[in-house]
Amino acid sequence: MTIKTRFAPSPTGYLHVGGARTALFSWLYARKHGGKFVLRIEDTDLERSTKESVNAILEGMTWLGLEYDEGPFYQTERFDRYQKVIQQLLDHGDAYYCCCSKETLEQLRNEQKARKEKPRYDGRCRDAKHEDSKEAVIRFRNPDVGEVVIKDLVKGDIVIANKELDDLIIARSDGSPTYNLTVVVDDMDMGITHVIRGDDHINNTPRQINILKALAAELPQYAHVPMILGDDGSRLSKRHGAISVMQYRDEGFLPEALLNYLVRLGWSHGDQEVFSVDEMIEFFDLENVNVSASTFNSEKLLWLNHYYMMHSDSAHVARHLSWHMGNLNIDPAIDGPDLVKVVEIQRERCKTLVEMAQASAFFYKEFEQYDEKAAKKSFKQGCELVLKNLFDKFSELEQWQGEQLHQIVLDVAEAMDLKLGKVAQPLRVAISGASVSPPIDVTLSLLGRKKTLARISRAINFIEKL
Ligand code: GLU
Repeated sequence: MTIKTRFAPSPTGYLHVGGARTALFSWLYARKHGGKFVLRIEDTDLERSTKESVNAILEGMTWLGLEYDEGPFYQTERFDRYQKVIQQLLDHGDAYYCCCSKETLEQLRNEQKARKEKPRYDGRCRDAKHEDSKEAVIRFRNPDVGEVVIKDLVKGDIVIANKELDDLIIARSDGSPTYNLTVVVDDMDMGITHVIRGDDHINNTPRQINILKALAAELPQYAHVPMILGDDGSRLSKRHGAISVMQYRDEGFLPEALLNYLVRLGWSHGDQEVFSVDEMIEFFDLENVNVSASTFNSEKLLWLNHYYMMHSDSAHVARHLSWHMGNLNIDPAIDGPDLVKVVEIQRERCKTLVEMAQASAFFYKEFEQYDEKAAKKSFKQGCELVLKNLFDKFSELEQWQGEQLHQIVLDVAEAMDLKLGKVAQPLRVAISGASVSPPIDVTLSLLGRKKTLARISRAINFIEKL
């Protein structure tokens, strides 16, 4: 049997971290078993579904590298098929038209409440043999007796008595199918073997199983993944900071850091924290998915991001950094050092790509002004002489290389009888605009002679005007 999983988002917003984790678990399960991963866009809620959300979801999946083998399928393109299945259920007596008005249902609910019963539809139209009409909805005729057993691969067996379930609406009065019907038809038609989804859907599962049984379909296996909580214990939401996957990209995270973070959010493999994608695929299993909710921890995600910035291939990091440089209106390919080299000297001191881009902009474009504190501290009267000396020596230098550049800084300090810092710090502020940068010799060597000399001149001018 080929394992087939799916991710079935409703396009009513961006791809959030909860959805991304569900997608990741489904993707990993398929990859691990040499199966197929399907993307299905559940866009039947026409009022809340938007094209922008679809695009945001697709963009998020691509950025994370969760490539799908089939799809994206759109439920709005499958209405004919849903109608056929609904007709089939009607023909077999597994569904019926219900003409109960809002008022009737309201009254029923109130009576049940008064009797301290759980409000549920009592099936009064079951045998009324109503025909289709403007007001009629179609309900699934749920079995009265017996029970539904969900053999959940995360939560274990869950048993629900059929008398707890009422006759669910599968088509609205305008004929449009409802969520539980479309999901069932799609999971059946698409040959989904494993439904891995958030446990907010667990109440739907027994209903879906009953419909599948009525259609004589093979049941998929289910795995309901617990939700993600914010650090205050409430359900993760915007209040807790970024929850959209693309916002993590915008804030300077590498996709592999987010994937690694998400895989550990509710799943473990011994006490291992760092997983390459290949390791995730190798080790992932549903048995080790936590039964209880997990808490989102931004610090840990930041730690992982730094880890991947340090350890990923520098060309790979540079590709992602390049996008952030673009956000600063810099095209690193046009004028400036090889971005890969910049990554290599910056990665240690930056936790995000945004930080790295900001700290590296000076290699490519003139900074607007000196960091105020840095200029105040390092540009003292008299230090223009230091800079002039450096300027002369740098102008004459034959080979623009780290070691020689370093030697010049040493020589100027010695000749002027100054501590090294009194030479290196003004120089650093002069060339980068700020008081922190990678070691001065590598910074100079990547910046190049032309920019170095121009910036030293600019600093001399600045100091002379003080
Ligand atoms: N479309 C549903 C949602 O976004 C998911 C349905 C499912 O996974 O069965 O919550």
